[in-house]
Amino acid sequence: MDDVSPGDVSPLLDDLNPAQREAVSAPQGNMLVLAGAGSGKTRVLVHRIAWLMQVERLSPYAILAVTFTNKAAREMRTRLEALLGLSLRNIWVGTFHSIAHRLLRTHWQDARLPQHFQIIDSDDQLRLVKRLLKDHGIDDERYPPRQVQYFISGCKEEGLRPHQVQTHGDAYLGQMVELYERYQLTCERGGLVDFGELLLRSLELLRDNPRLLAHYRERFAHLLVDEFQDTNTLQYAWLKLLAGEQAGVTVVGDDDQSIYGWRGARVENIRRFEQEFKNTHTVRLEQNYRSTSAILDAANALISHNAGRMGKELWTAGVKGEPISVYAGFNDLDEARFIVDTIREKVDEGFHRREIAILYRSNAQSRVLEETLIRQGMPYRIYGGQRFYERLEIKNALAYLRLLLNRDDDASLERVINVPARGIGTRTVEILRERARSQGVSLWQALHDSVGDGTCKGRAGNALSAFANLIERLDNDTAGLRLHEIITHVNEISGLIDHHRNEKGEKGQARVENLEELVNAARAFTQGETPLMQEAGEGAAALEPFLAEAALNAGDHEADEFEDCVQLMTLHSAKGLEFPVVFIAGVEEGLFPHKMSMEEPGRLEEERRLCYVGVTRAMHKLYLTYAELRRLHGKETFQRASRFLRELPEELLEEVRLRGQISRPVTAARSSRGLAQQESVTAGDGLPTLSLGQRVSHPLFGEGVILNAEGQGERARVQVSFEGEGDKWLVLGFAKLTPL
Ligand code: ATP
Ligand code: MG
Repeated sequence: MDDVSPGDVSPLLDDLNPAQREAVSAPQGNMLVLAGAGSGKTRVLVHRIAWLMQVERLSPYAILAVTFTNKAAREMRTRLEALLGLSLRNIWVGTFHSIAHRLLRTHWQDARLPQHFQIIDSDDQLRLVKRLLKDHGIDDERYPPRQVQYFISGCKEEGLRPHQVQTHGDAYLGQMVELYERYQLTCERGGLVDFGELLLRSLELLRDNPRLLAHYRERFAHLLVDEFQDTNTLQYAWLKLLAGEQAGVTVVGDDDQSIYGWRGARVENIRRFEQEFKNTHTVRLEQNYRSTSAILDAANALISHNAGRMGKELWTAGVKGEPISVYAGFNDLDEARFIVDTIREKVDEGFHRREIAILYRSNAQSRVLEETLIRQGMPYRIYGGQRFYERLEIKNALAYLRLLLNRDDDASLERVINVPARGIGTRTVEILRERARSQGVSLWQALHDSVGDGTCKGRAGNALSAFANLIERLDNDTAGLRLHEIITHVNEISGLIDHHRNEKGEKGQARVENLEELVNAARAFTQGETPLMQEAGEGAAALEPFLAEAALNAGDHEADEFEDCVQLMTLHSAKGLEFPVVFIAGVEEGLFPHKMSMEEPGRLEEERRLCYVGVTRAMHKLYLTYAELRRLHGKETFQRASRFLRELPEELLEEVRLRGQISRPVTAARSSRGLAQQESVTAGDGLPTLSLGQRVSHPLFGEGVILNAEGQGERARVQVSFEGEGDKWLVLGFAKLTPL
């Protein structure tokens, strides 16, 4: 085969600047691309894969690329296929977790796992920990389940098995380690694998099987990792082991966007990489292609408040753009109203809804935003909140499906043994647990034994037998059916559909719809294109990979990706993405930066990086909003504007008042209460003065709260949020409002 000269493949280099070209076309050794947000790191990664295949003649089979989410993996595959004009079935692109899972599934025997091992998510994990504490009579105040869970995950992220944890004679730590050990035993018995275990097991699999390791080292000529700043110790070790001496490794990252330190990510992996991977070629990208210069300048100013940065320049040739708008809501409802009103204006201006994102620090903030969106009939989609695969009804259906594959899956059995209710009480379940524990068997086995020897008889015994029969029957009935038919059948015969149909109100309806959506997901799965799907086949053989995909996808997949919806997500899940219009909501002290991080300088810097990530998601227009009064954990608290607002250059900001009118520059408002609004209003001398937050009554609309006020005298207007009637603007002179 003739050599292909770079000229022939120029389309691959066409849309790149010189530094990007250098990175894409560098020879096959190790490479680090260190660069700020929006400078084309992900783009370089994709083009480099294409280059390696077209010019360096690597087979897709020889490439392994790690992305941060499954969604990013799908996008990368699509972009590659478009660049190369061919379909790429053999290329391994995925998250660390999905790649680890793939290895374990292929080599389950060498990994000492049952063939149908199941992935459990953090919810299942917590449930398991709680049960352990209870079973062993351990005080859950001294050993809070979440802390135990955190400890176990932390150990796994550091690559430590129970016997490797140093307790230095510390009794508390000793107990933790014992819990870790018991937890692991339960997992082993049930064939359960948590997220940390996926990584640790696959690392051990490669490490302890020289033959396998040699095979994969031979196979993968080049490994690539996006968002490298957020890899943890285990992932780094995994990469190093797999790469060995031969493979080339390309990693791209930005130390200023390291936001997972709290979950074990090690930003120092960037420096380690330069030192430990031989002859690393480092490339810096400095031109930002994403944001207006107003947005980029704000981001640069913000992040300059952090110490110990690796230091990068970032500039843009783009336009200055509009200033960053700051809105101080009177309360969280008012903040949400402003956001949704503004979105409506943007849509009228011609933006698609999917081009608009609302980002927030904590999941709990989404509820008020969601309710406002729903009230105003604005379609939206949530990433990372109550995700589809984490919804109760879906998890129940999946639990039945898992039991079909593996009766010893205790977590699933416990989940659905009495859902829908079939007369198996907590006491009966206790008896089963106790028996399972003392005899070292699964709950399923304990159930059979207890019915068999009469430990559980009468009504309880009958109910248990009925449950066991149901599972066997589902298994028999579904033999030979196609995947989506299996799920339809299980939904119906288990009683789950009827159970939710009988629930009152919209919630039950939504749950039935979600169960139906699961059937759609199964159909899409068997027709789909991811590697797991291709291997799956159609019938019951597809069930196990489908369940695995569901567990892995719980992180970021949503059903109707193509509907034009406003995008809601936490700042953490916005990493790597970009949107023409971005709102960051709740920019308040205690919320963002989060109060848990305010005392520790290190944590505060991580919050600032998170803010930097948020700001740099915006392409054309950025809004920062906050509420002066917010309902948090059941009580109303006064909030102050976030310090991050003060760290932005004043000349780049403008305060927004009602309906997008700009009232005054933000400067005047840098008081302790932040950006103040008109606080009170009256229709004239001698008439009552109404203030923000005051409750009033209206003859027609009933009772409500004043959200906003404008003008004085005969031009005075107030916005009132009426219970049942929604928000209304009223001219004070006419409105006949009575203060309450
Ligand atoms: P982040 O740090 O947020 O992950 P990134 O460095 O990965 O960002 P990309 O997402 O790859 O940046 O690129 C940002 C945007 O700039 C994308 O829309 C991309 O298509 C565009 N872009 C990158 N390089 C160029 C270029 N040379 N010419 C035109 N557009 C570019
Ligand atoms: Mg990127």
